[in-house]
Amino acid sequence: MQENLYEFDEEFRDSISTVDAEGKRVWVYPKKPSGRFHNWRIVVSVFLLSVLFAGPFIRMNGKPFVLLNFFERKFIIFGQVFWPQDFFLLALTLVTFFVFIALFTVAFGRIWCGWMCPQTLFMEMVFRKIEYWIEGDANEQRKLDKAPWTGKKMVKKGGKQIIFIAISLLIAHLVMAYMVGVDEVVNIVSQPPSEHMAGFIGLLTFTGIFYGVFARFREQACIAVCPYGRLQGVLLVKDSLVVAYDWLRGEPRGKIRKNETMDSHKGDCIDCKLCVHVCPTGIDIRNGTQLECVNCTACIDACDDVMVKIGKPKGLIRYSSYNAIKEGVLKVFTPRIAGYSVVLVALVSMLVYFVATRADIDTTVLKAPGTLYSKTEDGQITNVYNIEFVNKTFNDVALEVKVEAPDAASLLKIGDPNIVVPKEGKLKGLFMIKLPEKDISSMKMNVTLGIYQDGRKIETANARFIGPIMANRDKK
Ligand code: SF4
Ligand code: SF4
Repeated sequence: MQENLYEFDEEFRDSISTVDAEGKRVWVYPKKPSGRFHNWRIVVSVFLLSVLFAGPFIRMNGKPFVLLNFFERKFIIFGQVFWPQDFFLLALTLVTFFVFIALFTVAFGRIWCGWMCPQTLFMEMVFRKIEYWIEGDANEQRKLDKAPWTGKKMVKKGGKQIIFIAISLLIAHLVMAYMVGVDEVVNIVSQPPSEHMAGFIGLLTFTGIFYGVFARFREQACIAVCPYGRLQGVLLVKDSLVVAYDWLRGEPRGKIRKNETMDSHKGDCIDCKLCVHVCPTGIDIRNGTQLECVNCTACIDACDDVMVKIGKPKGLIRYSSYNAIKEGVLKVFTPRIAGYSVVLVALVSMLVYFVATRADIDTTVLKAPGTLYSKTEDGQITNVYNIEFVNKTFNDVALEVKVEAPDAASLLKIGDPNIVVPKEGKLKGLFMIKLPEKDISSMKMNVTLGIYQDGRKIETANARFIGPIMANRDKK
């Protein structure tokens, strides 16, 4: 009977627990979590937050290990510079990433959300802990919110908001350091705002966003905004590992009555609702897997505590899957997982191959806009080209450009004859190709250029050469 209830009574999905019937926000006061999973989460969070804050300071060959400079469209990942020219690599990385996300979620549900997501780390392990420290546990917070504004309440509420703003400011600096580098952030904060107006506005904007998210918006970010959270409905399957309530063991639930022992109590759930009280998204996991559940494990710890007290085995709420609870066998490697794994391995192999064989210099040759050809006094036809080099290395690179085909063509560099492309930079130039008119075989010909570094050819570039129309040559 309970299984039917579990499977078919889905009315709770028509609304979310943090919004009331009138559409107003219901503020969640989760009870302070504690227990073995919470202790492990603290260890993992300290480690991950340390890595996150250390990230912008980690350098390879004097360069940031990771830099995501969207403003200049330059990205350094694991010490490798990527430019917009590497767009296909970015696209491949994104596809690989999405397949990985799908595979990971199908197998392990929302482990990312509960253990690794920065939103959960900062919300539950930083902001919420400060709130408990200043305002006390859930009931004390409720009382404080209802209490009249006294000096004590103002100190507590004001102090909390000041600390929240200070941490939001810190996180904003961290995000900026990932985007523009630590040195630039130091410049922004050490010089007058007028000299770095964009950076200054960026810092204030990020501070405002983080303060708004962690002080007010909170679990709504996971429930209503996060695209990964919203995708759970299509990614999770009945074999996915999630935080799950064992309804076969727990039901029929009910409080222990006077003179009743646990042996005469039918289900193991004593309906104490502690699992609901600790939930930071305000849901009842006994209703089944829900979009709001970020797999934070707080309900596992709370219920384990209850089970120990009433002399029942732990794990009424545990990491498991729907099918594992129903059939008693946990299957992780399913055919779907096998299929995703094959695709993922193929994509990762391609990505590794393309990154490993990626050229350090990218050359683009285009005919100068608005030009066709010119004829010199000595009977040569000339075309003018724009050339752009992108140097993806951390050293200046001296290059030489030669025409390789057709044989009769010659190249004339316009401007500085030396080509030195600055490290992690671009160099634009102009050059001309000359071809004797007698060697022009059609109105549009291909010319091939070789790009040389230290006498070694590193790249081949092609361009179109336009010549005059000749009735005897171009007529079809
Ligand atoms: S904490 Fe455990 S026993 Fe208490 S209501 Fe939740 S599932 Fe039932
Ligand atoms: S249901 Fe449990 S695991 Fe899910 S968010 Fe609530 S407390 Fe965390």
